Amino acid sequence: MKEKLYTIEVMDALKAADECPCCYLERKMEQDTIAFVLGASYMEDDIRAETDQAGFCRHHTKMMYDYGNSLGNAWILKTRMDRVRGLLKDQAQGKITPGSAVSAGKKASFLSQISGGIRHSADSSSGGKGNGEGGWMKASEGTCYVCRRFEEAYGRIIRTFIYLIQKEPEFLEKLKASKGFCLPHFADLLEACQSGFSPEEQKVIPALYQLMEENLERIQEDINWFIDKFDYRNKDADWKTSQDAIPRTMQKLVGGYPADPVFRQK
Ligand SMILES: [Zn+2]
Ligand SMILES: [Zn+2]
Repeated sequence: MKEKLYTIEVMDALKAADECPCCYLERKMEQDTIAFVLGASYMEDDIRAETDQAGFCRHHTKMMYDYGNSLGNAWILKTRMDRVRGLLKDQAQGKITPGSAVSAGKKASFLSQISGGIRHSADSSSGGKGNGEGGWMKASEGTCYVCRRFEEAYGRIIRTFIYLIQKEPEFLEKLKASKGFCLPHFADLLEACQSGFSPEEQKVIPALYQLMEENLERIQEDINWFIDKFDYRNKDADWKTSQDAIPRTMQKLVGGYPADPVFRQK
């Protein structure tokens, strides 16, 4: 079966004219998943079985708290606690061995991830948070239900970019006129281009670097002017595009939306 690509979603993300279309999609999917697990689905046995098993990382646990729906949170916590207590008991009785099935999944390399695998946020290069006896106690940082849902989609998002760059000259022109990517997402795209493109297709890579260079320069000018505005001589000068330079520079460097309001239940 042909893989579904996120063509419409990627085009929409580009149209949003944000600092990074991947951050834009990440935010949307993250919020959709939080709303999903704390929506009606928390009473569905199969979904709860999944969240009981996977748990949630610290970042997404905070998001769930902020989102609201106390009863939904309480149910998810209650049955996750049941599971965790069972595991602890098993471990105390020596029933859990290092590397057994309850340990966190190992992080697949990004290359295997973009070719269809799943990327986990646990770092296996340092032994993996989930490995070793008791590793499961820290494993929800690496198996988090919300992180995993996005990571599964993220591989396809990057493959969609690759496909559109290869096949749609119009898309490439739009991309070149965009604000580029945040650095971490650009790194993933670059890695995918280097491994997925033929030598002929790789000729597009310098244009992608140029896109990033131009946009990093634009951000640099914004943050410079933000500082210059504190000089009393510039008190009445125009802010130009610098007023929100701090969150946009933060996003360019590390991804995400530091200025976002808390995501809450409507
Ligand atoms: Zn990004
Ligand atoms: Zn997470």
